[in-house]
Amino acid sequence: MKVTTLSLAKRVEELLKLKRTMLSRLESRLSRREIEVAKKDHHARRKPRPCGMTIHTGIGCNLGCLYCYVPDMGFPLKPSPYPLSGEQLVYALLFNPYFVPGPQGTLLAFGSVTEPFLRETKERAIEYLKYAHEYLGNPQQLSTKATLSDDELDRFAKNVDPNINILVTIVTLRYAKILEPNAPSPEERIVFAEKLAKRSINVTLFMRPIIPGITDKEAENILAKAREHGIRSVVLGSLRVTPGILRRLEASGIVDINEIKRRLPRAPRSSRDQVTVMENDLKERIARIARRLGLHVLPSSCSANVWSHRLWCYACKWGPCGDLSNAIEVSVDDIVAAAEILGCDKPRVNIKKWLVGLRCKRITRRPDVIAVWLETLIRRSVRVLTY
Ligand code: SF4
Repeated sequence: MKVTTLSLAKRVEELLKLKRTMLSRLESRLSRREIEVAKKDHHARRKPRPCGMTIHTGIGCNLGCLYCYVPDMGFPLKPSPYPLSGEQLVYALLFNPYFVPGPQGTLLAFGSVTEPFLRETKERAIEYLKYAHEYLGNPQQLSTKATLSDDELDRFAKNVDPNINILVTIVTLRYAKILEPNAPSPEERIVFAEKLAKRSINVTLFMRPIIPGITDKEAENILAKAREHGIRSVVLGSLRVTPGILRRLEASGIVDINEIKRRLPRAPRSSRDQVTVMENDLKERIARIARRLGLHVLPSSCSANVWSHRLWCYACKWGPCGDLSNAIEVSVDDIVAAAEILGCDKPRVNIKKWLVGLRCKRITRRPDVIAVWLETLIRRSVRVLTY
C-alpha cells in the first residue's frame, strides 16, 4: 500500500479520533470500577517494542519447562486467567498512549509470560483474541505448546483474526518428557498444527529456545516432521538463561551445560538476569536444513505476524520482513505532516535508508509516543529529539 503525504497525516488524525470514540463507547458499557482497573493495568501503560505488544492471557504457568524464565520473573507456578475481561483489555489498550489500533497498527503477541492454551487460561485467551479482533482489528500472533480440542478449535477459528499466525513450539522430540514435563507431547502439537493448517490458519514452527546439543541435533527430524504435517514456515530463537535455568538444565542430566556456558557472552548477574546464549552458528545451520526442506525461515515471531498479514517491516536490524511490494513509501513531507498532528512543532526530518530522524522545536506529547506511532505506521525505526 502506498501512502501519500495527506494519507499518512490523515490516518494519524483518524486513528487518534477512533481511539477517543471507542474509549467513550466502552465507557458506556463498563462500570466505573472496571474502567479504573483497566486504566491501572500494565496493558494501559506499557510501551510496545518494534516487534509489538505482548498480551498476557494469564498469570503463571504449570507446564514446568526447564528452560523457562517465567518462574525467575516472579510469576507463580499455579496459573490463573488474566483478571481483565475482554472489553477491559480492549479499553486498556486504547487507553495506552503508545497503542495504534487497526490492521496496520500495533502488532499483538499473545502468550509471552504464560502458555495461552492452559486448561485454566484458554477461555480467557480465546476471549481476548475475539475482542481484540472485533474491536481493534490489529494483527495477531500467538505462541503455544499446548493444544485445543476440536470444539475449542471451532470456537477459536470462528472468533479470531483470520490471518493470525500460530507459532507451535517444538525444540526436541526425544527429550520433551524431561525438558517440558507437563506439556502435550511434540507429536500432539504437530497434529494440532496440522489441524490449524487444514483450516487455512497460518501456522509456524517455533523452534525456540534452541538448546545446544539437543535442538540442533534433532533439527532435521523436527523440521521434516513439521513439513510433512503442513507447516511451511519456521522461526528459530535463542536460549536465554538465568542462574535458575542453568541449574535446572544441569540437573536434568541430558544437557551439556559446559557447552551452554561456553556460548554465554557473560554470566547472569542476578536471579532475574536473562542472558542470551550465542547461537548464530546453530541458527544458520538449522536455517540451511529448513530451506532445503522447503520451509520459509523467518527471523522472529513478529516477522511471522507481519508475514501472515501481508505487511512489511524494517523497524529493527532483523528486517526487512514481509512482502516488499507492500512497503510503505514515505517522504520528508509525509513525516512532517504526521509529526505535526502528533504534537511535534516545526518538525525537521532526516530519512536515511530505513532510519528516520525527527527533530521538533517543541513537543506536546512524549517523544517516545510520537516515535512509536510513526514507527508503527511506517514500519521503520524512528528517533525523536528536540532542537
Ligand atoms: S523488521 Fe522484522 S523482526 Fe524487526 S520488528 Fe519488524 S517484523 Fe519484527
